[in-house]
Amino acid sequence: MTNGFATRAIHHGYSPLDYHGALNPPVFLTSTYAFERTATGGERFSGETPGYIYGRIGNPTVSVLEQRLAALEGGEAALATASGMGALTALIWSMLSQGDQILADKTLYGCTFALLQHQLPRFGISVRFVDMTDPTALAAAMTPATRMVLTETPSNPNMRVVDIAALADICSRSAATFVVDNTYCSPYLQRPLALGADVVIHSATKYLGGHGDLLAGMVVGSKAVVDRVRTVGLKEMNGACISALDAFLVLRGLKTLTLRMDRHCETAMCLAHDLEAAPQVARVFYPGLDSHPQHALAGRQMKAYGGMIALELKGGLAAGVAFMDALEVVTRAVSLGDAETLVQHPASMTHATYSPAERAHHGFTDGLVRLSVGLEDYVDLRDDLMNGLAMVSRYEQGA
Ligand code: PLP
Repeated sequence: MTNGFATRAIHHGYSPLDYHGALNPPVFLTSTYAFERTATGGERFSGETPGYIYGRIGNPTVSVLEQRLAALEGGEAALATASGMGALTALIWSMLSQGDQILADKTLYGCTFALLQHQLPRFGISVRFVDMTDPTALAAAMTPATRMVLTETPSNPNMRVVDIAALADICSRSAATFVVDNTYCSPYLQRPLALGADVVIHSATKYLGGHGDLLAGMVVGSKAVVDRVRTVGLKEMNGACISALDAFLVLRGLKTLTLRMDRHCETAMCLAHDLEAAPQVARVFYPGLDSHPQHALAGRQMKAYGGMIALELKGGLAAGVAFMDALEVVTRAVSLGDAETLVQHPASMTHATYSPAERAHHGFTDGLVRLSVGLEDYVDLRDDLMNGLAMVSRYEQGA
């Protein structure tokens, strides 16, 4: 019998009775592991016998997190890393070589874009950006050199939703590994592997950790891929291993993932409607709204519509800045998925890696404001946001 999602998020991969009855997994603060005999070390290095070798490659606390996230995403195996960027680079360094091509969606987290646009070409890996909301555009862009297809859905920062099953179908007819960054949803809202993706990556810094107190990343997929990412990408190339303490904190966050996500989604849906009805707002980007271009697809692909909202004010950038400055409950900060509602300005913050021309080309404006809806009382958030908008009107009238 397979346990339900919440039960797996709390129990999978750990039995207290194996550790003196300790309810929580012990935090193994060790960089290395003693070998009983000289030969034991050699056998572990060669893979002949299982066992821990060195902290960069594995740790018992980290193993619990890896097993748990694999179970939640429905993957064979998982690897935890020091950050979301650590997960992405470990994957890329393991899977791609000079001459290979990545096809990536048009909008992505700013540092993912910077890695693809500005850094990978230095190593002979070419990147082309395609509007993956149209699967035929991906099919048309595929070449024999395409080895990886990368997308986020909903995408950071402007909440575009792509059809994972349709893109997976196209990738399955090629040599490309289809990678979905599932940070915005967490496996509670969306399971890309079940829809045909090959690999899921996460910034576990966000909803998985959930409390803004750690950085972490995850790679989930087949055992063969995860083993390779561990021994090549993590061990030999980027070295971005997670600490046992951070792995423990992600495990603690996972225990409440379902409750937190339900609350994030419920409050975000109400706030998206409030914002859409406000006269100062030109457009709200939230997949739960009828006005969202991929609303129906999001309804099929996601359990609920998530906690992230983007909005554009009628007064553009200046109005957006005045709005953000007026907020009192909402915190001005980057990152997302925390208990605190956070607001940030992608063009000058998370996505400042796009030049103004690149922002225009990739389809988001300087006026876009991004909200990560937290766990505070809905009415307090609504009042704060409406007050912020009222201040914008006053500011525009020169009061
Ligand atoms: N992927 C997405 C969608 C993100 O929003 C972020 C960070 O904001 C990352 C990856 C990178 O994760 P990290 O900051 O943990 O390196």
